[in-house]
Amino acid sequence: MNIKSLTIYCSASQKIDKKFFKLARETAEIISKYKIRVVYGGGNVGLMGEIANTISYHNKEIIGIIPKFLIKKEKLNFKIKNLKVVNDLTKRKEQLFKLGDAFLVLPGGTGTLEEITEVLSWKILKLHNKPIIFLNFENYWSPLLKQFENMIKIKFGNKNLQNQYQVIKKPKELEKILKLWSK
Ligand code: AMP
Repeated sequence: MNIKSLTIYCSASQKIDKKFFKLARETAEIISKYKIRVVYGGGNVGLMGEIANTISYHNKEIIGIIPKFLIKKEKLNFKIKNLKVVNDLTKRKEQLFKLGDAFLVLPGGTGTLEEITEVLSWKILKLHNKPIIFLNFENYWSPLLKQFENMIKIKFGNKNLQNQYQVIKKPKELEKILKLWSK
């Protein structure tokens, strides 16, 4: 598979438990071992900041996309050489989508939820066929995944949603996927 860049969607919250930051760090450590460019939201807060700082620490390629109005709130990450400032959230999402050959979702809030639901809906509509991976740490995404199953069960969709994404529980499980992608 020809996957050269990975878009990561995740929380911008600073208030979450330390275990989530550890999760983001471990995930980025693993990704750093592979030749893959990371694309993310450009800020220096929450899990987004943790991912970006770990990838930068390892001198690996990372691109940040941030809308002008969030520069202050989400603290532009000056460690990232490749930062794009865009006009609004729609443009950010567009770039995050376009620049990634695959998508990885870590725990996050409504922003993350919107981003991942959009790429999933687009995949169902056959607008792309890029891999989508949920990092379902401590079953964080299970209620959403259950809802997807329910939608299918009662026929609100005609696609087997489970075929549209992969679910992993631990960052370590990424190794297998990244190895496959680098072939
Ligand atoms: P959250 O998961 O809510 O912590 O947000 C993760 C990232 O998504 C943050 O950088 C938010 O600014 C961003 N975000 C929030 N709402 C949206 C949206 N509607 N479209 C795109 N990004 C968003």
